[in-house]
Amino acid sequence: MTLTTHATLGAVIGKATGNPLLAFIFGFLSHFLVDIIPHGDTGLSDGFRVTKNKRKRAIAYSMIDACVALFFVLMLANTRDINSMRTFTWGIVGSVLPDLLVALYDLTSAPLLKWIYQLHFYFHDMIVKRKRDVPLYYAVLAQIVLISYLQTKL
Ligand SMILES: [Zn+2]
Repeated sequence: MTLTTHATLGAVIGKATGNPLLAFIFGFLSHFLVDIIPHGDTGLSDGFRVTKNKRKRAIAYSMIDACVALFFVLMLANTRDINSMRTFTWGIVGSVLPDLLVALYDLTSAPLLKWIYQLHFYFHDMIVKRKRDVPLYYAVLAQIVLISYLQTKL
C-alpha cells in the first residue's frame, strides 16, 4: 500500500485505541494485514529487488509516495481537531515503520533487519505471487477512495 494509506489507517487506529502504545502496536500489525491485499506495486518491487532493471522508477515512486504521505499527514494535523496528538502520531509511526525497516534493509543488508524484511514480504506477496497483482493505476485509485473514507473517521 502507499504510505498515505498506511499513515491514514494508522491515524484512525490511533484514535480508536486512545492509547499511544496500543496505537503503535495495532498500527504496526495493520501494515502487514493491509499489505496482503494486492495493491499494484509488485512490478515496482520486483524491478527494484529481483530483476533490478527498473530501480530508478521504483525509487521515484517511493519518493513521491513518501512526500505525498508527509503532506497529507501535515494537512490532517493542521486542519483537524485531533483529540490526542500522541495516539495520532504513534498510530502513524507504527503503521509506516515496516516499510522504513524494509528500506533500511534494502540499503544496508543488516542481518538484524532480515527477519522484518522476510516477514513483510511474506504478507505482501501472500496473494500476488500465487494469483497476480492488480494494475497499479486501479490500485492507486482504490486507495484514494479508501483514504477519502478513512480521513472522515478522524
Ligand atoms: Zn509495506
